[in-house]
This record gives sequence, structure tokens and C-alpha cells, in this order.
Amino acid sequence: MTILVTGAAGLLGSELTRQLLDRGEIVIGLDNYYTGSKSNIDQFFGRNGFYFVQRDVRDSTEYPRPMGLLNPLKQIYNLACPASPVHYQTDPWCTLMTNIDGVRNMLSLSLQSGSRMLQASTSEVYGDPLITPQKEEYWGNVNALGPRACYDEGKRVAETMCTISTANTCIARIFNTYGPGMALNDGRAISNFIIQALQNKPITMHGDGKQTRSFCYVEDTASGLIELMNSDLQGPVNIGNPDEIQLIDLAEQIIDLTNSTSEIVHQDSAVDDPQRRCPDISQAIGQLAWSPTVDRQTGLERTIEYIREKLCEQ
Ligand code: NAD
Repeated sequence: MTILVTGAAGLLGSELTRQLLDRGEIVIGLDNYYTGSKSNIDQFFGRNGFYFVQRDVRDSTEYPRPMGLLNPLKQIYNLACPASPVHYQTDPWCTLMTNIDGVRNMLSLSLQSGSRMLQASTSEVYGDPLITPQKEEYWGNVNALGPRACYDEGKRVAETMCTISTANTCIARIFNTYGPGMALNDGRAISNFIIQALQNKPITMHGDGKQTRSFCYVEDTASGLIELMNSDLQGPVNIGNPDEIQLIDLAEQIIDLTNSTSEIVHQDSAVDDPQRRCPDISQAIGQLAWSPTVDRQTGLERTIEYIREKLCEQ
């Protein structure tokens, strides 16, 4: 089967590409390297069934057909979008339009080609939630004017576009994902804490650290996306790990795992920082027979090794 993965050079896109190639699929990776890195996909060049097109999803509705490949397109995973607050707030217009023009283009390609499209949505559509854990039925508590709005509202309108389109679509609401392939400069809690711990520098904590997150290892998130794509569900479906933890406890765990002498220092809370984040994944368990398999300690140990190597290369 021929599959387009947009955002293929990112954290999730590169792991998804690896899993799809391992299943014997033909994968066309598309990316403009805005936040992704060629080093994430270097391993695939020369591998049977992998093609790459450097393009911006906002630019075209055309099937990025590699020369000589005649196969019809069957599936589109639309992952292209900066995902961390530092990156998506750098150019808010670009983030918003990636979620409007980019999604419209991929929906148009899905209609032209008759392929099924999975839209990578996010737990950020729940904003700073007033209920926990977050179920798909919850409408959310989002500030449409704040610094996160370009992403949160962009992803919400992308969900609306998928829902009103006649294309065959499904929506995955992805919760915080981490693992090898993360960009070191994207300011996410896990990568920041690990870098600071490995360098024995102060661990910077926004607010009191009592805000919670639920982190899902990248292999699990990618396999959840594949299960959803290959189902007949439209969604939205939460894909994440309900192992909720306060950020202060996460920082302590990373200090332990790295044998670091770092201490935690507190800074002002980030604007509109969600206080609770925990997915209800009963739909994914019940209808996709999917649930995460990698526990936090194992995932963190692998991520620490990855970041240690990256820091040595710098
Ligand atoms: P990432 O930043 O590592 O990867 C995103 C990829 O998209 C990058 O390779 C980037 O270069 C590419 N990209 C960005 N804008 C583009 C454009 N206009 N045209 C072509 N390529 C473009 O992020 P990620 O963590 O891999 O996230 C992938 C998707 O999953 C995103 O849509 C994100 O919103 C969603 N998501 C991620 C998380 C998470 O915790 N990682 C959580 C919720 C949702």
C-alpha cells in the first residue's frame, strides 16, 4: 500500500515511517524541515519503499508522486505542524495556516485520490480542561486569544474541516508524546529536564510543578495512529498514556535516572498552561484494541540515552 506521511522528519512522523516500512508499506515522506530534522529520516534513505519530497503542506494539493512510482495513494497521515509551544509560537500565522491551508490541501488530495486521511489533532483542543480525565465528548476550555491559540484553535478548525469534508477521514487527539527523535531545542518538559539534568544545571520549572501531564512513548503513539487509520472509526479518538504525573515528580524521576546533582528552580507559570492533562483512552482500548505498552521508566531511559548521544555530537 502507498502511504503519504506529512511531517515525516519530526518526532512522530519518523517513528510512524519506521513502523510502516517495517510492515512492508511504501512510504512517501513529506516535510519542509521547519522543526523536523534530516537526521531523523537518514536511516530510511536507500531503504526499499521509502521516498521523500521536500515540500510545504500549505503549497499544493498535488500527489507528491516520486518519479517512477505508479501506485495509487491509499492513506495520508497528516502530521505536518510544529508541535511544541516554543516552535508553534515563533510564527503564529504559519502555525495557524499550516492547520488551515495545509489541512485543506491534504483533504483535497484525499478526495482526488480516494485515500483515507488521518489528521493529527491534539489534547490541546481541550485547552485548560475543567474535567479530568479528558474524554472525546468534552468540548474543552480554550482561550481563543492567548499565545497558544494559533495552535489550539488551528487544530480545532482542522478537526472541523475533517468533519465537514466528504473525504474519508479520522481524527487522532494525541497527548504529550516523547522519545528518541525529539528536537533538543523545542522547550518540551521532558527534553528540557533531561538536558538540564545531564548537564547538572538547574532544572527550570514553570510554576509550582503541580501541573500534570501524561506522557506517551513515541512507539506507542505511532502504533495507535496506525490502528486508528486501519479502523473504520472517524473519531476523534484520544491516543495517549493515562499515566498522569505532576511535573515536579517527573523532574525528580529524571534527576534520579541521570544521577544528576541538579536542583529544581521555579519560574513564572507559562500563560494558559493547562493544569491537568490526562486522556481517557477507553475508546482506543475498546474499539481499536490499542493501549500503550512502554512504561515511563523504560521510555525515559531510552530518551536519556538518545539525548546524551545528541549532546555528545554537538
Ligand atoms: P515535530 O515538530 O517533531 O514534527 C512536525 C514535523 O512537521 C516536522 O518535521 C516539521 O518540519 C514538519 N512541518 C511543520 N510545518 C510544516 C509544513 N507547513 N509543511 C511541511 N512540513 C511541516 O512534532 P511531532 O511531535 O512529531 O508532532 C507531529 C504531529 O502530532 C503534529 O501535527 C502535532 O501537532 C501532533 N501532536 C504531537 C504531540 C506531541 O506531544 N509530540 C501532541 C499532540 C499532537
